Amino acid sequence: MPPQSLKIDNARYIITVDPERRIIQDGSILVENGSVSRVGKAAALANARADRVIDARNLVVTPGFLNGHMHISYAHAVRGIFPDNLGSPLSHVFKLQMAMTEEEEHATTLLGLVELVKNGTVCFVDPGSTKFPDACLQAYQDAGIRVILGDCVTDQDAPFPLPRYSTAEAVTRTTSFLKKWQGRLDGRIYAWAMPFSAETCSADLLRQLKRVADERHTCLTLHHNSGPQARKDSQARNGHTPTEYLESIGVLGPNVVLAHSLGVDDAEIECLARTGATVAMCPVTAAKGGRGVAEFGRMPELLAKRVKVALGCDSPNNSNHLDIVRAMNMAAIQYKDARQDMRLVPAESALEMATLIGAQALGVADEIGSIETGKRADLVLFDTQRPEWQALFNPVNNLVYNADGRSVHTVIVDGRVVVDAYHQSFVDEPKLYARVQEIGEKLQARTGTTFPRSRWQIV
Ligand SMILES: [Zn+2]
Repeated sequence: MPPQSLKIDNARYIITVDPERRIIQDGSILVENGSVSRVGKAAALANARADRVIDARNLVVTPGFLNGHMHISYAHAVRGIFPDNLGSPLSHVFKLQMAMTEEEEHATTLLGLVELVKNGTVCFVDPGSTKFPDACLQAYQDAGIRVILGDCVTDQDAPFPLPRYSTAEAVTRTTSFLKKWQGRLDGRIYAWAMPFSAETCSADLLRQLKRVADERHTCLTLHHNSGPQARKDSQARNGHTPTEYLESIGVLGPNVVLAHSLGVDDAEIECLARTGATVAMCPVTAAKGGRGVAEFGRMPELLAKRVKVALGCDSPNNSNHLDIVRAMNMAAIQYKDARQDMRLVPAESALEMATLIGAQALGVADEIGSIETGKRADLVLFDTQRPEWQALFNPVNNLVYNADGRSVHTVIVDGRVVVDAYHQSFVDEPKLYARVQEIGEKLQARTGTTFPRSRWQIV
């Protein structure tokens, strides 16, 4: 049970991301019944008592991070197996994912949760990769973090194996998933409609799923990209660009989150701004996958049009890590290089996407995303007693450019301490690592997925 009250006392800095974007030096936060009840200068909260007090003199506090697109499943067991000269690993990815057993998925999910939470993530969107959510429920509960789940559906042919149903069946599955999962674990489980993409789903299916999401006051997410070839294909298929097509069939709106969204042109950005649809961009996946951020990355234009952008890590074989601090870093540096303009995507914007703007993109900003009285207490405490945090004058710059998730010291979700001075207590990590390694070996053998262990000889 979480203590009734918790005080984070005398923090070196509190980066609130509140409406005034205050950074409070020597600040304190009082948490009662899972919510922030007071936040301000330590001196002003000197008389506030709590069941537990965390001495935060050497800590920098931020809101908990959101990960807007994060496949948590098979990939942990086979992370890093694809050599760089393979090109796209997608066909292998879906084959491996479809071959996971319930027990295997539970173990890889646990590992994903450990990595997410230890890097400061308090809420993530799994875009329908989890095949056995029932088996993972206990893990979600134990880890204590917020999980956005759904049932990945398609009703059209796809170039790789995906869950394929009739249109009616896909709608029924989604409706029953939402009924079963929305609001579980004291509201920390959110259930969304999750069609895979516009290319693998009929207009009829997308329309019906949007209606279901609207009726149940929840969201819909799908994979989305544009660019010259995608625009040409889409024009030939339905007479619209990929984004305008979604608008034309009534599928865009503030409760729709488009993942990746590379290559959108100005008219498509206008369309997103007009409809209030949001995006979840995966900057490390884009860079590692050679997706051409210079040509196709439009983050600065999306932000300029006030489209809500969340950051994501995609999967442990795309970005290869689940560290949103590194995703912030990539978001803040890749446009500066791509456009040869250091003013683009400043550190503050990167932090906003991982916190408040990300929460707005995912429809949860009433609860989390900033440190304000009345919001749920989802907080990350960074340890500044580390070389990369020296010297400390500008905490936002230090966080985005110097640090990474390894300096996450303590993580609080809903007022509960889920990482306490670098330690989580919901799983035996060495035992789990050994089990996941074993799963990876078996999974590769079972699916006939073999790659040289390294391009260099292992002797
Ligand atoms: Zn994805």
